Amino acid sequence: MTFEPADRVDAVPPSGIRRFFELAEEMDDIISLGVGEPDFSAPWAAREAAITSLERGQTSYTANRGKRELRERIAGYEDERHGLSYDPDDEILVTAGASEGLDLAFRALLDPGDSIAVAQPCYVSYVPGATFAGVNVVDVPTRVEDEFKLTREVLEDSGAAEADALVYCYPNNPTGATMTGEELREVAAFCRENDLVVFADEIYADLTYEHDHTSIATLPGMRERTVVFNGFSKAFAMTGFRLGYAMGPPEAVEAMNRVHQYTMLSAPTTAQYAAIEALDNCWEDVEEMTSQYDRRRNYVLSRLRGMGLDCFPAAGAFYAFPECPWDDANEFAEALLQSEGVAVVPGTAFGEGGDGHLRLSYATGLDDLKEAMNRMESFLQ
Ligand code: PMP
Repeated sequence: MTFEPADRVDAVPPSGIRRFFELAEEMDDIISLGVGEPDFSAPWAAREAAITSLERGQTSYTANRGKRELRERIAGYEDERHGLSYDPDDEILVTAGASEGLDLAFRALLDPGDSIAVAQPCYVSYVPGATFAGVNVVDVPTRVEDEFKLTREVLEDSGAAEADALVYCYPNNPTGATMTGEELREVAAFCRENDLVVFADEIYADLTYEHDHTSIATLPGMRERTVVFNGFSKAFAMTGFRLGYAMGPPEAVEAMNRVHQYTMLSAPTTAQYAAIEALDNCWEDVEEMTSQYDRRRNYVLSRLRGMGLDCFPAAGAFYAFPECPWDDANEFAEALLQSEGVAVVPGTAFGEGGDGHLRLSYATGLDDLKEAMNRMESFLQ
């Protein structure tokens, strides 16, 4: 026996984004619009709550499902903010980021050989996560002419009706697309008609700029067939705390907890104290960060359009997804990096439907954004 990767690990290629970061690391004076995380630090009150918990010696495991106090806060917040009603006792599981929640869902709620329809372009973890779980993937490419929203037509055309589950994320990474409740209705109807369960990644739920977020789980007949994933990484800028949660019917949460209790035991304790404080006292910080993202969004969209690039009005998360001026987005991104020191990610890194586009993250200070847009403009000229 030698250490060869298992077949299902070998089947997953290294991340398409990594190559750019390796190149960028070797260069000076780089402005990176490539990262998918907030440029802000976590709110001070949340950090202080973490420090205080450490000073008090609160360093043990928590309950497998997470501290009850935190689950109560999550239930209150989701109810008030998104109209979702989940029981803190048996319908909420605190996880090590939304990432762990998604991984648990693939492993605990699907069998090897089952299949999952994945709306794309999408966050880079879904397809590998499914592959690690032995689950087959049905690609569901969304289209720029639909502003990268999921429609009945793309679901039907891609064969999603044959899948067991649908995974999607709105507000979306990498496109910044959002979906209204009205638009989600046809997705919900499709899932009910074809008996699909839904894994709804709502990690960007509070980063919307045009309309409030609607969860598919609030639509008729959907709560019982949906697991919602959320967390503290984006709106609260707490990526390094590694804290998220999954919400769903008791039987789904029970199965996910079965895996979680053996593989993770409990989500990070210090982070759970910080998260309680975040939900209690950090909404002003969230509002301030959101208004800064919105300012940057308007700036980036208008600069990109000024360069003659088609750019649909991305209304959520912190990404712009303009068309690429060259046929080959990989070549463009590499040339832009080498010539101007500006790192962007080619849309192909995010699966089907992303080619011909670039992802630019505006989780970057306005001065750097201005400089990056100036450099990009002079590169195009
Ligand atoms: N889903 C999406 C769409 C994301 O963009 C990210 C982070 N880039 C995650 C999930 C992972 O979030 P977490 O830090 O909570 O694991």
